[in-house]
Amino acid sequence: MGLASGIMITPALVNQLMGTPVSEAERRFLKSAPPEIRVRLNANENPYGPSEKARKAVNEILSEGNRYAFKVVTELKERLAAKEGVSAEHIAIGAGSGELLCATGVAFGVEGGSILSPFPTFPLMMAYGEVFNTRWDKVNLNDKLEIDYTALAAAVKDDTKLVFICNPNNPTGTLVDHAIVRAFCEEVSKRLPVFADEAYLEFLEPSQQVSMVDMIKNDRNVIVSRTFSKIYGLAGLRVGYVVARPDVIKKITRYQVGFTVNQTAIAAAKVTLGDENFMELTRKKNAEARKILTDYLDNKGYFYGKSYTNFVFFDPKGDAEKFMKSLADRGIGIRVWDYQGKQWNRISIGTVDEMKLLVKNLQEIA
Ligand code: PMP
Repeated sequence: MGLASGIMITPALVNQLMGTPVSEAERRFLKSAPPEIRVRLNANENPYGPSEKARKAVNEILSEGNRYAFKVVTELKERLAAKEGVSAEHIAIGAGSGELLCATGVAFGVEGGSILSPFPTFPLMMAYGEVFNTRWDKVNLNDKLEIDYTALAAAVKDDTKLVFICNPNNPTGTLVDHAIVRAFCEEVSKRLPVFADEAYLEFLEPSQQVSMVDMIKNDRNVIVSRTFSKIYGLAGLRVGYVVARPDVIKKITRYQVGFTVNQTAIAAAKVTLGDENFMELTRKKNAEARKILTDYLDNKGYFYGKSYTNFVFFDPKGDAEKFMKSLADRGIGIRVWDYQGKQWNRISIGTVDEMKLLVKNLQEIA
């Protein structure tokens, strides 16, 4: 599908952007026929999912596999609207929140100008917008690897079309107090839309999970994205959603690429939505496994962002590429990011056994 002159959007492009190399080291590595990865600590997946309930629902829905999922998508939209306290017109569902990030990147990017974001952050929307000749304006994090909202607000330009924020942030796992994020959204959304990616919000304890969604109820130009890929453990089934004002939802959904949502994903999402037991289990196990990594990093004196999520971002003092390659040779996948003229590692949190294996291997390599 060509949306701007001479630009071909193919599934291959979207796949490539979804797993975009985020550093020169990754680009080199991907070109070099990398070894098979058995321990996946590279995509912030939930090693405990799908839940038993979701597995059962997927098996049961198979007999409906001959039917389009129109009705069930509408039902899920209504369930999500009730959960978020908005109308169904405030919700768009996609094949993962990534689809909606891409659609938003086009909806605003196709007008030219720029999308502004902190850096580093989850790059999909801006990378996709760049395909449509949007500029990606970046603002560095503060020295604790947190999003600097004062600097971000100051970086809005006349031709900025949208600001992307992510709390907690990927790849750093860091969290900024919701009052600061809210004040930023309140101020900036008077001038242009703010896209708040909340993919990892449920990794916080329930009392700490403060979404920006209520601003939309007050008609603010804020777009909130949520996903079933992370705490709910359904990354491979592909379902996510955004909440925004109905006029903004219309603008974004114009750029969805067909009817992408399927019976199995919806069935799993419906039974997993609000499954506090499963979320609690994931949070508990994740915290236990994350501590194995952060204890190691503390012992070695590595600097890392305080993580509220299922990944940790750290400065391996020059060894990022070596760690990625040597671990890959041992079947363990991790990531390398370029930031501030040096290379950083991001390691996703697997099971306790996987993290013990990781640390054992890091000790041998370092
Ligand atoms: N937002 C953030 C911050 C992410 O880290 C990811 C995936 N890593 C996504 C969105 C997209 O995830 P999905 O398309 O599976 O919902």
